[in-house]
Amino acid sequence: MSDIYARQLEALRAHSLDRHLREVRSSQGTVVDIDGKHLINFASNDYLGLANDPRLCEAATKAIAEFGVGAGASRLISGTHSSHVRLETALAKWKGTEAALSFDSGYAAAVGAIPALVGKNDIILLDKLCHASLIDGARLSAATLRVFPHNHLGKLKSLLEWCCRKNSTARILIITESVFSMGGDRAPLREIVELKKNFRAQLLLDEAHAIGVVGPNGRGLAAEESFSPEVDVQMGTLSKALGVSGGYICGPRNMIEWLINRARSFIFSTAPPPALAAAANAAVDFLSSPEGEKRRRLLWRNIDTLAEELQVRPASAIVPWIIGDEQGTLAAARSLQVEGFFVPAIRYPTVAKGSARLRVTVSAAHEEAELRSLGAAIKRVAKKKLR
Ligand SMILES: *Cc1c(COP(=O)(O)O)cnc(C)c1O
Repeated sequence: MSDIYARQLEALRAHSLDRHLREVRSSQGTVVDIDGKHLINFASNDYLGLANDPRLCEAATKAIAEFGVGAGASRLISGTHSSHVRLETALAKWKGTEAALSFDSGYAAAVGAIPALVGKNDIILLDKLCHASLIDGARLSAATLRVFPHNHLGKLKSLLEWCCRKNSTARILIITESVFSMGGDRAPLREIVELKKNFRAQLLLDEAHAIGVVGPNGRGLAAEESFSPEVDVQMGTLSKALGVSGGYICGPRNMIEWLINRARSFIFSTAPPPALAAAANAAVDFLSSPEGEKRRRLLWRNIDTLAEELQVRPASAIVPWIIGDEQGTLAAARSLQVEGFFVPAIRYPTVAKGSARLRVTVSAAHEEAELRSLGAAIKRVAKKKLR
């Protein structure tokens, strides 16, 4: 049996598509100890430096002392802990929706919510560059799935017209991201909202990489562009800028009540530990505070510093350097590592074949000197590659 896997792995290696786990011996921070080397970390989605924040750690430690580590069972079986109730109240208030539901992860939120919201008589229109969790959720739903080219409004419109011709009773769910995870660019939300209104479709917006980064108090792109009421399903994660772990769906109370009854990843999985909910709650409180807003502005100052070095105009904390071929991308990542920087090489199947890239993520916790020296190193590596 193991020979099958040996052959499969060999095929991956031959295409520079093999992946390996790398042991990290330090906490998440701007410097990480990887494979025994100290590297400046440009790989983490901990955009605000909250993963190791004393306020969050204290909230978690206090909750562990009081409630222990395990939640015991799923929330419909052993009861909903007050840490989860408080977190969901805070999330709904922060996002300005009637209600919120938290999940074990953003992935679990997507694969739980989408099949609960649409079924086999319905239609999903999904952006080509959507995250795997959204694709998997769409497939699990058994709805008819149509993919539109990335941010292509003309194609989205013609698909909506096709939906109306095909079946006037089908529910139509448009799924996209506010900030795309591997390109860092944004969705044209104003135009998508207009289309969804004209065609009476619903909109699910995954704000995983916008939360904490975009919009007043980091409430995301829908809040920044004042479209929150038009976004029917507001999805996000507690694992990135919020620095903890878990996912959420925010929206109208009846929809949340329906998810409690139908989202399988919520119903059939043990509730996240109360301590994680307490830490996430502390993160939401922090973001809602003037100090949180100050931290978010510091993140943008850092993004602008790197942008100035590289002469690019990022729309988020994600700055991709698209190289194309897989081998060249791995080589560039290795060169940066030799210079002391941890920047991940992103390859198929995370991105399309031939669009491999280095993905730099900026944090509010980076020092200006770290950003400038990364910029200089990237320019050196790029020049060497061109020779
Ligand atoms: C990371 C990510 C998720 C999944 O969130 P987790 O909490 O890490 O499971 C979902 N959607 C997008 C766009 C993401 O980048």
